[in-house]
Amino acid sequence: MNSSRLAIIPLMALAILVPLTSCDDAIDIEKHRRGTAESYMIAAANPLAADAGRKILAAGGSAVDATITTEMVLTLVEPQSSGIGGGAFLVHHDATDEKLETYDGREAAPASAKPDMFLKPDGTPMRWPDAALGGRAVGVPGVIRMLALAHADHGILPWADLFEPAIKLAEEGFEVSPRLAGLLATDKEMREIPVTKDYFYPNGTPLKAGTILKNPALAKVLRAVAENGPAQFYAGDIPAGITETVASAPANPARMSAEDIASYEAKKRDPVCVTYRVYRVCGMGPPSSGGILVGQILGILNQFDLGGMKPFSAEAVHLIVEASRLAFADRALYVADADFIPVPVSGLLAPGYLAARARLISPDKRMEKAFPGRAGQSAWRFGTDSAPEKGLSTTHFSVRDRYGNVVSITASIERAFGSKLMTQGFLLNNELTDFSFRPESKGHPVANAPAPGKRPRSTMSPTIVFDQTGKPVLAIGSPGGSRIAGYTLKAIIGVIDWNMHVADAIAAPNIVSRGGPIDIEAGTAAEALKPALEAMGHEVKFREMTSGLHGIHITSDGLTGGADPRREGVVLGD
Ligand code: GLU
Repeated sequence: MNSSRLAIIPLMALAILVPLTSCDDAIDIEKHRRGTAESYMIAAANPLAADAGRKILAAGGSAVDATITTEMVLTLVEPQSSGIGGGAFLVHHDATDEKLETYDGREAAPASAKPDMFLKPDGTPMRWPDAALGGRAVGVPGVIRMLALAHADHGILPWADLFEPAIKLAEEGFEVSPRLAGLLATDKEMREIPVTKDYFYPNGTPLKAGTILKNPALAKVLRAVAENGPAQFYAGDIPAGITETVASAPANPARMSAEDIASYEAKKRDPVCVTYRVYRVCGMGPPSSGGILVGQILGILNQFDLGGMKPFSAEAVHLIVEASRLAFADRALYVADADFIPVPVSGLLAPGYLAARARLISPDKRMEKAFPGRAGQSAWRFGTDSAPEKGLSTTHFSVRDRYGNVVSITASIERAFGSKLMTQGFLLNNELTDFSFRPESKGHPVANAPAPGKRPRSTMSPTIVFDQTGKPVLAIGSPGGSRIAGYTLKAIIGVIDWNMHVADAIAAPNIVSRGGPIDIEAGTAAEALKPALEAMGHEVKFREMTSGLHGIHITSDGLTGGADPRREGVVLGD
């Protein structure tokens, strides 16, 4: 136990006095899309989850403590997005020793995984929805081990107490949210899947918003993990339920062994940081491409004076898009699980390299093709990746505790409802569809090809931004598949370059390029940029872009937070 923890022991007594759940009036989402606080804050995708996290913070818990509680409640109330059947990445700043750590709880492929697992017998890739459904794409879940690792380092309140709010809600029932009900109403597959259909489609009809839903099976799992520790999730009955569900899936039955689950390890990775203006922007390294993407794009944009341009003007958007295209070209070639592939992280983020990449950008004309650069010595020449990454779910939340510790975490089961397989009250992920479906390209191996034990490349970009003195000033991130980096970047640029309120930066129209056309969020004012961008040579498409940015801006005046109006999130704090 370090000295900062000794100093706060009296607060543990406070935890006993403050009820961790209560029957408060429902939180008005519209009123809490933005908020201010003096001491601690949480911005998360669901009011019940954010409120549970806030109570842990109020009780003297650390940012990691609140993170555990929030993620357990999200497993219950936002099951479409993340949960204990999935994975996560967590970026943590410790205020006492001013240390930044990043935790990898990404799902791992089972030993049965093969490079060609997503190819059809004729050698062509499976259709993405066909691959995502059922057992084949389920990776070994990492959330519980990752949170346990972070708790061992930064927890204050006892592990078991952090599960109580979710257990209570699961036993007593919670109100189904409009977003969950909407996704259930439109899903075509889940009403045919055993277990899943009984929970979400009682009597064959989708749950409606406002229905009180109980989940005793999940309560039992959470109680076992609370009382007996994280190992309970990785040996015994709980993993047996996972392996059996994967093996007996109506679609794509697959083999995940007890040993695959027992041997899962959460890992601490080196943070990935770049200097942007006077700030230091830090995020998650491989197996996520998020930190490298955000870092490369900002590193390239460092060469241009965005602050002197009109926010979201065609001139500024063009530069952001061109920098993104260059970063995505590098990503497709170089980035994968660094335990398997030599990823040239420092080469990709070297200021000289990024300055050279910036020189490829013309201020008013689209570059013909964005090629990958020579970012470093690689063990072999890779082929270009073909991971489709169509995920529409995932969750991001940001937490700041009263001691100044900060968490930025993105958690996922990949697409909405993951593999759509449910066991013991929770859904299993389909994260393995983040691998490249083609293991080779033009005779070269693809860095992000599937392999036993390997973690599929992610775009999740939980980020913390620091000022010149090393103090954290912004925690931010989003769901959104491979658009995650673009969403996150928009908020960072909005706050840093354009001095926007974090909630306004989050709400601003999404404009993203992942290498192909520019996607502009349909129905927003940004649609008006189309002619000017086309005149520069860009192809522009209007699309639904449901980011889920949840951020906390830490200023000398206190904490300011924002929740994405495209989802159901809130900002709470005191
Ligand atoms: N599976 C995606 C990733 O790890 C996230 C999916 C989503 O955000 O919808 O990058």
